[in-house]
Amino acid sequence: MRIILLGPPGAGKGTQAETLVKKLSIPHISTGDMFRKAIKEETTLGTKAKEYMNQGKLVPDEVTIGIVKERIAQEDCNPGFLLDGFPRTVFQAEALDVILKEMKIALDAVINIEVPKEKLIDRLTGRRVCKGCGATFHLIFNPPAEEGKCDKCGEKLFQRADDSEETVINRLNVYEKQTAPLIEYYSRQGIIKNIDGDQPIEQVLVQIGRSLGRNWS
Ligand code: ADP
Ligand code: AMP
Repeated sequence: MRIILLGPPGAGKGTQAETLVKKLSIPHISTGDMFRKAIKEETTLGTKAKEYMNQGKLVPDEVTIGIVKERIAQEDCNPGFLLDGFPRTVFQAEALDVILKEMKIALDAVINIEVPKEKLIDRLTGRRVCKGCGATFHLIFNPPAEEGKCDKCGEKLFQRADDSEETVINRLNVYEKQTAPLIEYYSRQGIIKNIDGDQPIEQVLVQIGRSLGRNWS
């Protein structure tokens, strides 16, 4: 299955992706995670991405499209993949359509997770991420059993540099201007599934499953 997870920053894409990829046995491709890894490893890509990410801006299309093209051509993507955080502009979506056509494959679904804008700031500023395995928590909405420590691997949790209130506001504006038009883009292709993301994490997963014809309740 080839799926895109769409939605504003903080909608719960990464949280849902953690479980979805296990259930569907497909790789999780998060462009944000790829950039963060490149920053940590101090590669040329990382240096380029960092200046944009820290300001809450999008990394230029040509850089982002290139890394996704390379990634989905890898063998583990043969059974399908889950794209999280890509595409984020209409230009990226059009480029992805061309890439998929060249590969003679097609998307099965675009899952659009909807959350009221006023809830996103609290979700993002309270987000904590595991240094070791990348699992996502929230100080209030999804706290770890032990403060500051990952339930899954025991590593320390940290706050992303771009989850400060000021950067979060920029990112939400960027989403409205550059990414929200993708809802219309994929609606026209007839593959969009709108999901109410303003409910408990487990319920969101059940609804996503249902939209894909699976019963996970
Ligand atoms: P995204 O990947 O879309 O930016 P995340 O999955 O990282 O969003 O979620 C943002 C924050 O909101 C995290 O701290 C996460 O624990 C929390 N969160 C995710 N889903 C829900 C939900 N259904 N209800 C409340 N909080 C949630
Ligand atoms: P995310 O982890 O999805 O919240 O992404 C974090 C940051 O990485 C974004 O604010 C952007 O700066 C950058 N980024 C991730 N995906 C993309 C993309 N598809 N296009 C441009 N920039 C991206």
